Amino acid sequence: MAKFTPMMQQYMDTKAQAPDALLFFRLGDFYELFFDDAVTAARELEITLTGRGSGSDEKIPMCGVPHHSAENYVLRLVEKGYKVAICDQVEDASAAKGIVRREIVRVVTPGTVMESKALQEKANLYLASIVHKDGVFGVSFCDLSTGELLVVEHGDEQAMLDEMVCYQPAEVVVPAGEAGSEYAVTVQELLRTVLTAGGEKSHRHDRASETLLGHFGVISVESFGLADHPLAVSAAGMLLSYLQSTQKRSLSHLKMPSYITSDEYMTLDAFSRRNLELIETLRDKSKHGALLGLLDETVTAMGGRLLRRFVERPLANKQRIEERLDAVGELNDHLLLREDVRQLLDLVYDLERLVARVAYGSANARDLQAIGSSLSILPHLKERLGGTAVGLLQNIAGRIEDFGPVVDLIERAVVDEPPVSLKDGGVIRDGFDEYLDTLKQASREGKQWIANLEATEREKTGIKSLKVGFNKVFGYYIEVSRTNVQYVPDTYERKQTLTNGERYVTPELKEKESLILEAEEKLLDLEYQTFVGVRDEVATWLAKIQQAAEAIALTDVLQSLATVSAKRRYVRPMIATDDRIVITEGRHPVVEAMLKGEPFVANDTLLDNGGHQISLITGPNMAGKSTYMRQVALIVLLAQMGSFVPADHAEIGIVDRVFTRIGASDDLAGGQSTFMVEMVELANILHHATPKSLIILDEIGRGTSTFDGISIAQAVVEFLHQNPQVGAKTLFATHYHELTEFTKTFVGVRHYSTHVQEQGDGIVFLRKILPQAADRSYGIQVAKLAGLPQEVLARAREILAELEHGKPESKLVVYKQKDELGGAMILRDDVVREAATAYETEAPAAASVKKKPAKEASPS
Ligand code: ADP
Repeated sequence: MAKFTPMMQQYMDTKAQAPDALLFFRLGDFYELFFDDAVTAARELEITLTGRGSGSDEKIPMCGVPHHSAENYVLRLVEKGYKVAICDQVEDASAAKGIVRREIVRVVTPGTVMESKALQEKANLYLASIVHKDGVFGVSFCDLSTGELLVVEHGDEQAMLDEMVCYQPAEVVVPAGEAGSEYAVTVQELLRTVLTAGGEKSHRHDRASETLLGHFGVISVESFGLADHPLAVSAAGMLLSYLQSTQKRSLSHLKMPSYITSDEYMTLDAFSRRNLELIETLRDKSKHGALLGLLDETVTAMGGRLLRRFVERPLANKQRIEERLDAVGELNDHLLLREDVRQLLDLVYDLERLVARVAYGSANARDLQAIGSSLSILPHLKERLGGTAVGLLQNIAGRIEDFGPVVDLIERAVVDEPPVSLKDGGVIRDGFDEYLDTLKQASREGKQWIANLEATEREKTGIKSLKVGFNKVFGYYIEVSRTNVQYVPDTYERKQTLTNGERYVTPELKEKESLILEAEEKLLDLEYQTFVGVRDEVATWLAKIQQAAEAIALTDVLQSLATVSAKRRYVRPMIATDDRIVITEGRHPVVEAMLKGEPFVANDTLLDNGGHQISLITGPNMAGKSTYMRQVALIVLLAQMGSFVPADHAEIGIVDRVFTRIGASDDLAGGQSTFMVEMVELANILHHATPKSLIILDEIGRGTSTFDGISIAQAVVEFLHQNPQVGAKTLFATHYHELTEFTKTFVGVRHYSTHVQEQGDGIVFLRKILPQAADRSYGIQVAKLAGLPQEVLARAREILAELEHGKPESKLVVYKQKDELGGAMILRDDVVREAATAYETEAPAAASVKKKPAKEASPS
């Protein structure tokens, strides 16, 4: 093995402690990276790769970044999925004997970022962990920037995966040695996230519970309500031990683990969240056009994050829904209250993350000031909410403590416009600390004396051009130009000769200078210590501030929902415990908001477990079937979230789970065929639906031949209809109008269609859902709207007529249009027949020619 210089040996020893991270090794004013780390960082950061002698023969690769701008580089690497270990000098270089001691002070990883510039205001950043044993998964999630810690156990893999998709963790910790196991690989592929091995054995139940108990200072996991959830304990313990080993500092802002109870909430699987476009749209993943974007009238970051939670997890408990509805109602009805609350909230900063930084020890003076000013708003909010007669709002008011002493402390301690850095002083207000004031005074007086020096010396010597200056090498000096040197008094001591002058010092100047420097050094040190003292004092209020932050977030979400309902004419839904969904004049919240000019056509809905169990909706493409079905699901979701709903009247029997199977989601298929994805989703529905579920099925069996498709669709309707364990309320859209024939005699199946008016050989969509089946698909008319060539349309009509009157004649069709090579395009008649059938049933999406991915293009 090569022999290294002592410094490189220290590097090697440190690197061995963080083998999976890029090591930022502090050398003077730089962080340096070596070996492969340097190669990787130079490539990813586009910085120069150099070499360095190491004591061995060859130069080793090296690159570096200035320490003052290191944060940006670190965050860029972490964003790309790397971990970065920060190794600092942990003793004063001048005090060190031999080589300066260096230690890793923190490992920054994708799931443990605390820096506000790398965090999205209105989204959480989660680190997750998974432990798997005997078919059960223990899962935990932690947002280090807010202190939230959640745990749950799942008996099947799909539920665990759904949970993962919901929280979208940036990093997932699994037990050491399990990164290659099946579930871990699935999670990684599904989330495209960073997988990390937890500490050796840290997930073992005894170790994990020891870690948790030690951290939270309790004697039994029963304190967390986790006695019956050993795998949740394992997951949380492993996660906490990973945080401890990477953060190496106080994590007192972490809240006790809280179990995600599922019977309180409606279950929404990952497919449905995506299909219903709750957070982002399917097509371009944008917020605009998704439900969350529409509902977000929050004014604080905390409220923004909580609203997302509301949307992803509607409730299933009548009492809790009604509580929220009462509060939303109050804020909806009273414009003045709503406006006051919004204005007050607008003055509140992100207390949750600010106070986490206080506990973590990274808050600066501006952060403290933001906390102080936010807390000073709370008494007004408390008074406003407490003054209402609504339970939830009063409850929120009750959760806001008196923060007078903290506000006062921060106001007294911190200057009005503090600097970002804590190292350069200027943070603590005059009058806060007597000794600090004395030092400040000394420094100020000294500086003033020097400031006056120029004038007094000019007068004394008569040299008009005499100047007082400062440089790092000589400190303060008096400068005199060459022509005036003769007038310099004897008391001046020459220090430096310049081309056209001389620089001098005087004993008095030196004396003042050392007083100033001494005072400044002490001052900086003491100011920093004083600030840390204040910060620690604020940290003792951690739990109360966290509680207030939760109360504020909830207030903000409630006012946001109220603002939306007032703005968009929503009504309060009646929440029922029977299994009926009755909606009069319902609207699709997002489509309604996005329509420009034309009005949205409202529609009614009636679903129950008996005679109205399944609505079979037929009608051509583009007529509004999926909009209608999604609208029903969204209205139910909104109601159970505690929001008002877009309708004239709504009665919602609480739904335990919403299932969706919507459209051909080719972009989501990721390797599997569209048809396969469709069938997997369908299987999930048929296995898990209960009489309290709501199922939305759009175009089942599209990815296969027509007969296969109809057969599967029919079998699914029969299963849902005849299986008493299921009995779920179902909206089923199809353009197989044959299906309406087959299901005519089913008691629970109702037939509906979207109203279309024929005009010549075209059609107009009226968007009204009528209580009767459609008799035709209007595929060719829709294809016409989509702009298919006239020849194709004419021929399709011909074939359709033939099909409707028996077997079509077999003939070769020659199209007039030339193909790209200039030859006539000749299609075989069986191809044409198939195409015509496809147009009839699937236009226009399926009829538009799709580009094949390059890989699959034929070799010719
Ligand atoms: P289908 O599922 O029948 O193919 P969609 O539900 O996708 O049709 O509707 C197509 C378009 O028609 C929607 O994007 C929307 O712009 C418009 N639309 C649908 N329903 C309505 C309605 N009730 N009122 C107004 N416009 C609607």
